[in-house]
Amino acid sequence: MRVLVVGANGHIGRRLIKLMSSGPHQSRAMIRDPDQAEALREMGAHETVVADLEGDCGPALEGCDAIIFSAGSGGHTGQEKTDAIDRDGAIAMIDAAGKAGVNRLVMVSSMGADAPASGPENLQHYLRAKQAADRHLRASGLDYTIVRPGSLTDDNGTGRISAATELERSGKVPRDDVAAVLLQVLDAPNTKGKQFELLAGDTPLQQAVAAL
Ligand code: NAP
Repeated sequence: MRVLVVGANGHIGRRLIKLMSSGPHQSRAMIRDPDQAEALREMGAHETVVADLEGDCGPALEGCDAIIFSAGSGGHTGQEKTDAIDRDGAIAMIDAAGKAGVNRLVMVSSMGADAPASGPENLQHYLRAKQAADRHLRASGLDYTIVRPGSLTDDNGTGRISAATELERSGKVPRDDVAAVLLQVLDAPNTKGKQFELLAGDTPLQQAVAAL
């Protein structure tokens, strides 16, 4: 499959591009700054495309079979960017996928996105944006999988996770393992039409994804 990686220059995105470099899928790294292209190709991106979630992303999707969406406005921006990227940018990408007939979309969401009011106060606006994007995706008719990690860390991946519709605890998960799960999910038909929470754990990730 040719896979558009949205947020390819991000911390998860770069890990994903490296993992995908050894196949079997072709990555198309979506970046918003052309100066990022060379580094991404060196990391193993099969192709790069310049597009901004605040603009028209339709052309970036041409010829793709699937999308992995791992973009985000980041904690350093204000609520306006959270709305523009995490909510409206994600929704625009979902709509563009539907229009282009790209049916498979794997979304990086967040633990807590179904209950923003129960989250820490400083995260509630972000969680509401993620909730709106996830709702739109569930109603889109696409073959979606919504992956909801806990707090992301830069610890080395272990290849072992906990994953379930609801884990009923909070916690952390290394970005390495999130990237590996995204790739595993892409090829796991049992995850279509599902959402699940993801934390560091004891189950080998292939086994955990197969059990969803
Ligand atoms: P990251 O390093 O901040 O990467 C986000 C990427 O999104 C960046 O590459 C950025 O591009 C890109 N982006 C931002 N605005 C864009 C736009 N308008 N158009 C196109 N691309 C745009 O984040 P991460 O650590 O990889 O995390 C990725 C995902 O995990 C996000 O969806 C985040 O909400 C979610 N998440 C985070 C946590 C956490 O603990 N931090 C927990 C759960 C879920 P540039 O490189 O050009 O800036």
